[in-house]
Amino acid sequence: MSSYLDELNEAQREAVLQKEGPMIIIAGAGSGKTRVLTYRIAHLMKNGVDPFNILSLTFTNKAAREMKSRIAGVVGPSEAKNLWMGTFHSVFARILRSEAEKLGYPSNFTIYDTQDSVRLISSIIKELQLEKEKYKAKQVLGRISQFKNSLITVRAYYQNPELIEADKVSGRPKIGSIYKEYVDRCFKAGAMDFDDLLLRTNELLTRFPEVLAKYQDRFRYILVDEYQDTNHSQYLIVRALADRYQNICVVGDDSQSIYAFRGANIKNILNFQKDYDDVKMFKLEQNYRSSSTIVQAANSVIDKNKTKLDKEIWTANQEGESIKIMRTFSEGDEGRFVANSIFENKMQQQLPNNSFTVLYRTNAQSRAIEDALRKKNIKYKIYGGLSFYQRKEIKDTLAYLRLLVNPNDEEALKRVINYPARGIGQTTVDRLVIAANHYKISIFELLHQLDGLSININSGIKAKLNNFRDMIRSFQIEAASKNAFEVADLVVKKTRLIRDIESEGTPEAVSRVENVQELMNGIKDFIEEQHQKEEDASLAYFLEDVALATDFDKDKEDVPRVSLMTIHLAKGLEFPYVYIVGLEENLFPSAMSMNTRSEIEEERRLFYVALTRAQKQVYLSYAQSRYRWGKLIDCEPSRFLEEIDEKYIDFISPKKEQAAGNKFINKDIFGIPDENRIRFKKPLVRKVEKPLKKTAAKPVQVKPAKNLKKLSDMQGSQNLFDHDLLQGNYVEHAKFGKGEVLSVEGTGNSKKAEIRFESGDTKKLLLQFAKLKII
Ligand code: ATP
Ligand code: MG
Repeated sequence: MSSYLDELNEAQREAVLQKEGPMIIIAGAGSGKTRVLTYRIAHLMKNGVDPFNILSLTFTNKAAREMKSRIAGVVGPSEAKNLWMGTFHSVFARILRSEAEKLGYPSNFTIYDTQDSVRLISSIIKELQLEKEKYKAKQVLGRISQFKNSLITVRAYYQNPELIEADKVSGRPKIGSIYKEYVDRCFKAGAMDFDDLLLRTNELLTRFPEVLAKYQDRFRYILVDEYQDTNHSQYLIVRALADRYQNICVVGDDSQSIYAFRGANIKNILNFQKDYDDVKMFKLEQNYRSSSTIVQAANSVIDKNKTKLDKEIWTANQEGESIKIMRTFSEGDEGRFVANSIFENKMQQQLPNNSFTVLYRTNAQSRAIEDALRKKNIKYKIYGGLSFYQRKEIKDTLAYLRLLVNPNDEEALKRVINYPARGIGQTTVDRLVIAANHYKISIFELLHQLDGLSININSGIKAKLNNFRDMIRSFQIEAASKNAFEVADLVVKKTRLIRDIESEGTPEAVSRVENVQELMNGIKDFIEEQHQKEEDASLAYFLEDVALATDFDKDKEDVPRVSLMTIHLAKGLEFPYVYIVGLEENLFPSAMSMNTRSEIEEERRLFYVALTRAQKQVYLSYAQSRYRWGKLIDCEPSRFLEEIDEKYIDFISPKKEQAAGNKFINKDIFGIPDENRIRFKKPLVRKVEKPLKKTAAKPVQVKPAKNLKKLSDMQGSQNLFDHDLLQGNYVEHAKFGKGEVLSVEGTGNSKKAEIRFESGDTKKLLLQFAKLKII
């Protein structure tokens, strides 16, 4: 048997050896799903399948690259190069590039990123004179994105009274008009947004049977990773392409479905068996990634979800360390705790920075972590958020490049028409936009006929506009005989972009200039790489690459860095040490996802994804107060902390360390003297509502059950301090209702009580999280 097959267990091997027909692998985290996909591709190639006939869809381009390099290890690098492998967006952008003209787009169409789309929508909202408060550009884009991912075109929208009604009810009856205008304007600009890449692919495959046949024939073997997070549009593309040969292999985990908010449909994985005949189903049950503590703790959490497929997951790995929970005073403390803990682990275990990741629910949380890491001189890298390609100077430079490749690109034009400043004001731009719409031409076309058309722009400004137009035209002419780097270099020099930044004279300006230079380096590298691969090195391809790059793909990996990212981005990845921060109610679970069971279940899956990224150890933290929306608010520990089987957790309390006289922890972790800290005087449990005022409705009388001791004579309910609770107390739990305390054990943070609830259930709860009220 060949050696690569020896690197698989029995069940994995079976899945790899199953060559033909539809198959699905649903299995828990870390069980080797991605590994099976990778080895399967290698195996197909070893057995004579042409790599040109294999299409593999991954969640990030980074994942695709890693898979490719592993496959190259088995079959050799030159063959692996020919695989079609990447994200849905990158693979189908490439296909659209060669078919775009069929759909009425230029083949050099621009890809609008989210920021471009938001800008365009804002300007449409303004032009339609809609109320900004009701029509928030981001929300409107979200709604349009929903339509597109469900393949609801503008026409379909207007034929669907339910949708129209829903938008009316939500106070935004003009969504349809915005949608129509947005689609028209993108089309006119020769631009596709991210959702269009899927929508237009669907259109291409439906409207042109010969095109469908061509790609069906090309992609005889299709493999999809993270299938649980495909949306309807992606699902239809896969179905159409796989229809002829039905050699389709999908892998996923329903418990890791975390993109419902973006239209992912978990039913795609649940219904796979109905979609194809004779589906072979494979189960993988052994986790190779994590310690047994982590595997079991994660299982105990996801067990709380009602909607899920039954699957076992176990591991032969060592028990490992317990999961550590840390409570901190503020988010600043939380950052310091994380940075110090990373520092200690690094030193004690002699580990590189890239053994660590810090995961959070929302991007904004990165700041406190970043500050603390910087102070400790620990190098880190942020995924998502403001990455290199999102920085202003980079976007400005790219906008020039986009404009010369596709002069109809309206968002690019608006970005640079007055940058660096050349005396063309916003009013002029607004007038141009309106006139271009009126004459149904692009703004750039309009700039060629300023004198012929009746536009209210004075001759001084007209001259400036003409100069701008001529400059862009001259770039285009130069571009015909220069390579991408030379063109970009010319643009940077001629536009005086760098000089403009330098004139700010701040330290930030220096780093912004460096960024532009780094972009130039990037273009050089790109040309080099493309030449080696004998692929197109044109500016248009470079821009496409950039538009589709996730942050994973572009940042330079020169030194090992701690990774900071949202949990959504961490899917599929693994790290020895994982820190999950901000485990507080209303943050994680998110305040916006607490209204229905299915929302909470999605948040819980997110927590499951976070826990299962870890190989060796997990640290969880929460702050007692945090600035949110500009206000300092008191936080309560997340319900998810309470849901982890307590067998697997330990509290690391600075209070304990302090009592033991550990000055280092006291000073260094928090940086402020303990006497100034009030956190430990505060109760650990959820804050209780204030006693009802006399004028309020009559309080509900709670009769203590027979023979129950009543601990407190205080009115109403009170916070329960862990030293308060006694056997026989009658308590109320937010979720389980009322019950009797059967026994109390443990001390301090690990104190727990066994409680028999009125429902008949007996539960052991950790008092720190149980949020009990004595009644
Ligand atoms: P996720 O659900 O998080 O995407 P996954 O099911 O895709 O996880 P992989 O990433 O493929 O899991 O595998 C998890 C880890 O276990 C990887 O480091 C992988 O190399 C390792 N692994 C998988 N199968 C085996 C095996 N048979 N022997 C040794 N290591 C394995
Ligand atoms: Mg995976």
